[in-house]
Amino acid sequence: QESFKKPSQTRIIAVANQKGGVGKTTSAVNLAAGLAKGGLRVLLIDDDPQGNATTALGVEDRDSAPSLYDVLIGNRSLLSILRPTESLPNLYVAPSNISLSLVDVELADEADRRQRLRDSLQECLKDLHEHGNTIDYVIIDCPPSMSLLPINALVAANEVLIPVQTEYYALEGLSQLLRTIEAAKNSDNPTLEISTILLTMVSKNTNLSAEVAQNVREYFPEQTLRTEIPRSVRLAESPSFGETVITYEPRSSGAIAYRAAAHELAERAN
Ligand code: ADP
Ligand code: MG
Repeated sequence: QESFKKPSQTRIIAVANQKGGVGKTTSAVNLAAGLAKGGLRVLLIDDDPQGNATTALGVEDRDSAPSLYDVLIGNRSLLSILRPTESLPNLYVAPSNISLSLVDVELADEADRRQRLRDSLQECLKDLHEHGNTIDYVIIDCPPSMSLLPINALVAANEVLIPVQTEYYALEGLSQLLRTIEAAKNSDNPTLEISTILLTMVSKNTNLSAEVAQNVREYFPEQTLRTEIPRSVRLAESPSFGETVITYEPRSSGAIAYRAAAHELAERAN
């Protein structure tokens, strides 16, 4: 079993794209699992009220469990809601459910509403570090919107990873996200960078998919991972078993691709 390179500091990566269905959640959970499988200690924060990442990581009492909602409104510490995952001992999840959708309204008048996740996360990382459990990677799965939730993620993160589905309007769809990232940089988080682009749902036999992949690589030459994620039925199936494809079907093309992508991501650490 190969060990991945440990980053010198905790890398906090927001997985974002305001378009739905491009593979954000699939990428967040499988990259998190791939990094954990590589021997690193990983925390996945489910920042989407749909709670798909929470379910995909096997949390069965999602709708009654203490969740990120309790943390953002100030009732709980992030550390107190963390759950270990069944199949990977060094992967933890901060679960979410539909109550998270109330945050926009409930925090509307709070001066620190954009920094709540950052502040809770920093406190949590410090507590874990002091107990000898330093987290190597924090992966934040963002919802497909540009509300307060993804803004909290962009303020808490030091990097953005954008999954790009290889379809016709892939790059055009990114303009709103790029503006939101600029806004987060200018207001709260000057060192935030788009570090990584991951091409998802790539179809081997279509010219369009290859053409779009080529365009994305030209536009983001440094950021785009060499590894591309192919279309794979196993990737779509594994969440319903409460597992990532990496533990559920380790030999499938999707598992192999996400492990390679996680390895590449880890190799790029300082
Ligand atoms: P998002 O979080 O951006 O909305 P998801 O990760 O939930 O996107 O993916 C959308 C749908 O596509 C889900 O049903 C998921 O299982 C499926 N999917 C994601 N990636 C792949 C892939 N590489 N091959 C096949 N299906 C995929
Ligand atoms: Mg999602």
